[in-house]
Amino acid sequence: MNLSVAVVGAGPSGFYAADAMLNAFSGSQIDIVDQWPIPFGLVRFGVAPDHLNTKNVTKLYEKILDKPGVRFVGNVKLGRDISYEELKSLFDVVILAFGMEKPRLLDIPGADLPGVISATDFVGWYNATPKSKDCGDLVSRARSAIVVGNGNVALDVARLLAKTESELATTDIVPAAADAIVRAPLNDIYVVGRRGPIEASFSFPELSELGDLVEAQTLVDSAYLPVDASSAEESVRKKKERNLRVLRTFAGNNADNRPVRIHLMFYASPIEIIGQDQMTAVKMVRNTVVEGRAVATNETFMIDADVLVPAIGYKLASIEGLPSLGSGGVVKNQDGRVELGVYVVGWARRGPTGVIGTNRVDAREVVALISRDAPTASKPGFSGLDDVLSARSVSPVDATDWRKIDAAEIASGSNCRPRVKFTTVDEMLRATKTKAAA
Ligand code: NAP
Repeated sequence: MNLSVAVVGAGPSGFYAADAMLNAFSGSQIDIVDQWPIPFGLVRFGVAPDHLNTKNVTKLYEKILDKPGVRFVGNVKLGRDISYEELKSLFDVVILAFGMEKPRLLDIPGADLPGVISATDFVGWYNATPKSKDCGDLVSRARSAIVVGNGNVALDVARLLAKTESELATTDIVPAAADAIVRAPLNDIYVVGRRGPIEASFSFPELSELGDLVEAQTLVDSAYLPVDASSAEESVRKKKERNLRVLRTFAGNNADNRPVRIHLMFYASPIEIIGQDQMTAVKMVRNTVVEGRAVATNETFMIDADVLVPAIGYKLASIEGLPSLGSGGVVKNQDGRVELGVYVVGWARRGPTGVIGTNRVDAREVVALISRDAPTASKPGFSGLDDVLSARSVSPVDATDWRKIDAAEIASGSNCRPRVKFTTVDEMLRATKTKAAA
């Protein structure tokens, strides 16, 4: 009998965990279960639509899907179609790889006003996450937008808002989202960090890209920029120096020679969102950094804005029956072990940090731990899951179905647009009914 393994979540951490399990336990039977009828998680729903090269990593995941013993079980949601207890009873090893899909939100007055759009809603809207909010109306009317946070998600949001029709035409952005962005009379986009340029978690390529936009000029006040990165920890000092060099070129830019301005602002936090039926402005407070923490001063100022996107991180979605949370809001675990037979990888294990490749290292570590736990094969796996799902009239989507969806999306693309993504589960399921994948 072969080891039966359920991997919950078909994003990068799930695929790397499945691959590492195949290498460690030859002949294991692995079900990669996902709530959506399509695989690849954050590569599809998180990576920015203009970062097509990053998405090439799915070629590797497709190869893993093709390996003997691996099944994609899409359109099956943990907590809705199958419970945590059932999964444990059906599989020798359960690996939780479902990431963190809920946004962290601002807890300030006015944070529920129309115009405030969470990062998951915003990114979900342009990346076609089913059930995400339609932000088109708000965005298409925006003259000024604020993105709170100094991470790569904040830069993705700001960059996409600043792009022109021709820049968006070569991406896999939802066409309606591209239309809204292009129609928006946006002149000013503020990216606001509560701490300084040294503390910002931007990556160099993402920061540099802000210098390559067709109609947008990126600006920063040189008063924010330290003379060097000596205050940074040694392990990251070189990276911070490179970022500082980019920021210095932005500080030399001229505010008047482009229609759109991206203002990188540091040492400031929103404290109140102003408006009646729609936000119109944000009250900000100036911060200083004391022992690494942002501390508010008495100085406040206002920014007029119609849209505010807090890009301040993510948290776990609540899933019924799941073990309690550990510190940092991750699934409580010890080096990746949740309990004997159940493990956690990726963002659900370590929090919303790192790049795609980080999940490979993470998965290998956890699979090494699983090897030391020496699980034995005794549970039904595939067949048991199929029985439970069919008794509940749940029809999973398999890899063949996914490839029909994939082919249909690619066929809807054009010379320059690689695909037009389906935005609803119904559309995806309809595409699985076609005869053959291309
Ligand atoms: P992140 O890098 O952790 O950035 C979150 C930002 O939010 C930080 O600047 C943080 O400031 C700020 N923040 C948190 N709470 C705040 C509050 N209450 N008020 C104001 N600011 C607050 O997270 P992310 O941008 O969401 O990205 C998640 C992960 O995905 C990261 O590892 C990122 O690198 C990765 N990612 C990578 C790419 C790429 O490689 N192209 C693209 C997107 C995402 P403090 O530092 O002061 O806490």
